[in-house]
Amino acid sequence: MGLNIRQKILLAFIFVLLVSSGAVFMIYNNSARITQLASLIINEDLKNILNAEKMLQYLLHTDWALSKYQLTRIPTWRNTIYKSQRQFKKFLRYSREKAVREREKTALAKIKKLYRRYANQLENQIKRFEQGLIDANLQQYLRTQESVVEDIIKELEQLIAFNTGRLEERLAQAKTLKSLNQRLSVGVVLLVTLTSALLVFVLNQTILSPIKRLMEGVRKFANGDFATQVPVTSQDEIGELSANFNVMAKNIKHDRQKLTALTIMDEKTGLFNFRHFKLAIIEEMKRAERYNRHLGLVMIDIDHFKHYNDTNGHPMGDLLLKELSNILKETVRETDLLARFGGEEFIILLPETSRDQAVKLSENLRSRVKNHVFPMEEKQPGKDLTVSVGVAAYPSRKIDSPDTLLEKADQALYRAKKRGRNRVCI
Ligand code: GH3
Ligand code: MG
Ligand code: MG
Repeated sequence: MGLNIRQKILLAFIFVLLVSSGAVFMIYNNSARITQLASLIINEDLKNILNAEKMLQYLLHTDWALSKYQLTRIPTWRNTIYKSQRQFKKFLRYSREKAVREREKTALAKIKKLYRRYANQLENQIKRFEQGLIDANLQQYLRTQESVVEDIIKELEQLIAFNTGRLEERLAQAKTLKSLNQRLSVGVVLLVTLTSALLVFVLNQTILSPIKRLMEGVRKFANGDFATQVPVTSQDEIGELSANFNVMAKNIKHDRQKLTALTIMDEKTGLFNFRHFKLAIIEEMKRAERYNRHLGLVMIDIDHFKHYNDTNGHPMGDLLLKELSNILKETVRETDLLARFGGEEFIILLPETSRDQAVKLSENLRSRVKNHVFPMEEKQPGKDLTVSVGVAAYPSRKIDSPDTLLEKADQALYRAKKRGRNRVCI
């Protein structure tokens, strides 16, 4: 993903915020609904049940008071009858005022009608009883009254059952919502935990691991491994840092190579300098001794170079040094090490080369120089610019070190000069 770290973290936060606030909103809504259900249960269902129970209670109480009155003739019982009737009516009125559903309304209207009938019968009965009239049809009257009471009771019981059913329904709804809320809460906790874990994982993948790799790269680089490069795994800040580190490391490696080249090169001729040559000859000598290999050494000196300088000037002498160096470069093999030994002297280290092979190469070299037409060479003694060459090779008597090898080559060169120059001596 082409997102930077800040955007990745922000995205994760927005995700958690959206999902958890959605869940919290649902939890809040459910809780509000549970509260509403509880209030409906208390204010509607329970009250309706209570009112119906009260009516039932006062109906039975009226009936009971009537029997007491008939038995004892004490007027207080008559008062009790009226009082109970008033109470019944009061609760009936409450219920009717509160009734919302059609079913309740019809049931209550029916109860009211039945009760009016019951109350009339009751009133008649009390009157007749008080006037001392013996009712011939008392038995029948009692039966009708009983049936009215039973009807009212039946209606009330149905009303109670209806409200109880609704109460249970609402209770079940509240329970469902409660368990949904519990699940949602667990979900939110799980989500937050998971996203946190994911966030830690993402942070580790996008920041900590790349930083670790970057640090590892920097450590290696600090320890001198200039070829070190770190993987660029993202396009964020760390990725940019890694890419920049790679560019920096590459540049430093390149600069170092250039610097190293400078320290081992001779500026004027572009050949290796003597310092580098010395290290090489030490190594090659060790190798030749250890593995019993050949090692050739060739020393070259320009003939009458002082004369060339004196005749043509120092700058021309410098140009000549460069031109000669190029001829030498073309003549030596890849494995040979060609260096400027000093002023107008050159040296070639020839690994795996016997004395005869070294002489052959030297002869080739000498003749190429002789045949080459250098500027102003006609002013040189013999009208030609030439070189003298001294050759030495390991293994050989009295050669047991780089110094003795160099010494032998130097002595051979001296001999070449002494014998008239433009020649190869061993
Ligand atoms: P021989 O044949 O015996 O070698 O004679 P020669 O004149 O070459 O030797 P000599 O040692 O007398 O002189 C070497 C000259 O090389 C002297 C010096 O000015 C010159 N020389 C040394 N280094 C440089 C250089 O870097 N540039 C130039 N132009 N001349 C140099
Ligand atoms: Mg010289
Ligand atoms: Mg010379």
